[in-house]
Amino acid sequence: MSPVGQSGGPSNGVSLLFEKGSPGRSGAYLPAPDPGKGLRDLLPAAHLRPVPPRLPEVDELGVVRHFTELSRLNFSIDGNFYPLGSCTMKYNPRINEEAAALPGFAALHPFQPEEEAQGSLELMHLLERHLAEIGGMDATTLQPAAGAQGELTGLMLIKAHHKDRGEPGRTEVLIPDSAHGTNPASCTLCGYKTVTVKSTSDGGVDLDDLKRKLGAKTAAMMITNPSTLGLFEERIEEIAAIVHGAGAQMYMDGANMNALLGRARPGDFGIDVMHFNLHKTFSTPHGGGGPGSGPVACRKHLEPYLPVPRIVRDGERFRFDSTHPKSIGRVKSFWGNHGMHVRAYAYIRHHGAEGLRQVSAGAVLNANYLLARMRGAYQIPYDRTCMHEFVLSGNRQKKQGLRTLDIAKRLLDFGFHPPTIYFPLIVPECLMIEPTETENRETLDAFADAMLRIAEECKSDPEKVHRAPHTMPVKRLDEVRAAKQPVLRWHPPPPAER
Ligand SMILES: *Cc1c(COP(=O)(O)O)cnc(C)c1O
Repeated sequence: MSPVGQSGGPSNGVSLLFEKGSPGRSGAYLPAPDPGKGLRDLLPAAHLRPVPPRLPEVDELGVVRHFTELSRLNFSIDGNFYPLGSCTMKYNPRINEEAAALPGFAALHPFQPEEEAQGSLELMHLLERHLAEIGGMDATTLQPAAGAQGELTGLMLIKAHHKDRGEPGRTEVLIPDSAHGTNPASCTLCGYKTVTVKSTSDGGVDLDDLKRKLGAKTAAMMITNPSTLGLFEERIEEIAAIVHGAGAQMYMDGANMNALLGRARPGDFGIDVMHFNLHKTFSTPHGGGGPGSGPVACRKHLEPYLPVPRIVRDGERFRFDSTHPKSIGRVKSFWGNHGMHVRAYAYIRHHGAEGLRQVSAGAVLNANYLLARMRGAYQIPYDRTCMHEFVLSGNRQKKQGLRTLDIAKRLLDFGFHPPTIYFPLIVPECLMIEPTETENRETLDAFADAMLRIAEECKSDPEKVHRAPHTMPVKRLDEVRAAKQPVLRWHPPPPAER
């Protein structure tokens, strides 16, 4: 009995490798060490297992077919449209992979001496410069391994800065109520108290609420621009001036840089420190808990606190430098996820300045096209020109007895990954859609057609939507049970059933 089958729907023949094969079958051949001798004669008795390990007994082709079958069940950007808002699930150009696989990068040892890793150091140095340029910042660290770790790193720079200035009493960070959950989490981890700032009905920061909550205790404002509603905060310069006037710093969550590339630089609109998500904007592989990268860029006044080692250039040579007494120290072992640096660097160079402007143009155009096609079928809580993503509300469908979760599940039947749902929290029954620039018109239309058809079905055949998905190997899960009684380990059936 596999966990897949156990959790609800029919298992569609998907079984665990442990449930396949038969006793004695094998795909490996270990030669006997000496004629007439077995492995047992070679090893001391104390090191021998009393019982053989319970490994699957399968042939090689059986293993290949098993994993190929599982890989086909995976949902990926290479297979299908993946409009997961806030996540920028764009196509990862293959050229990035080729660059990262070059032996000079891929086979480098973490302890390789500097003089033998000059190419990698140069690449990291250049990537730092490119990111600083894109963000309108002065200095960059590539160490953080995720956006959330970048947030923590950036906040640590702010904390060190206030301490250095003799203002350790600044203990609060202001965060708009539309923020990604990692923002308040990073603040808490950094020892800050989170103070939520309200949004106005047009989706912007409520300036009156901001002014009420800003004060001598404020260390920073942490803002996402464009916001998670997909809206550009047009008063960002005014907000930055107000926050700076109170002696606090401006942090920007740069996860949405796909909308700004080559068009607006956070440093130019008042941001002091920001992070990038290489695994979003810069097309490095994303999802499945794989290696991420969340570089942090800052203005000059925060540079002394950046993590060490820094990469410095001496003429034509590059080296690590740890002599920065004010540094917050290391935030990641070694130099960050270097393979991601190579991919992001390849992406930036292959696009060039004009190409990056095209990226943001395409991302914004595609989102606005989809938004226009949704009009009439779904409620649009902020009906204005969007940036690279937009939010819908399933409020109308809720009146018909269906929830946004049902709409998301039904989309699976059309071969689409559902958008982000129930986030941001300030939009009831929220769907957050981000098509990215890498999708063509036919794909966008197919997705829009599916969304419109589902809106129709909610009226004409609600039960069909409610029971979806109909085509997936796993149907609706008992999510509470999955969380409370997770089946994480396979247990062999009792001997009688074998
Ligand atoms: C993805 C995301 C983050 C967190 O980035 P991770 O790399 O997943 O840690 C933070 N803020 C926003 C707006 C995001 O979309």
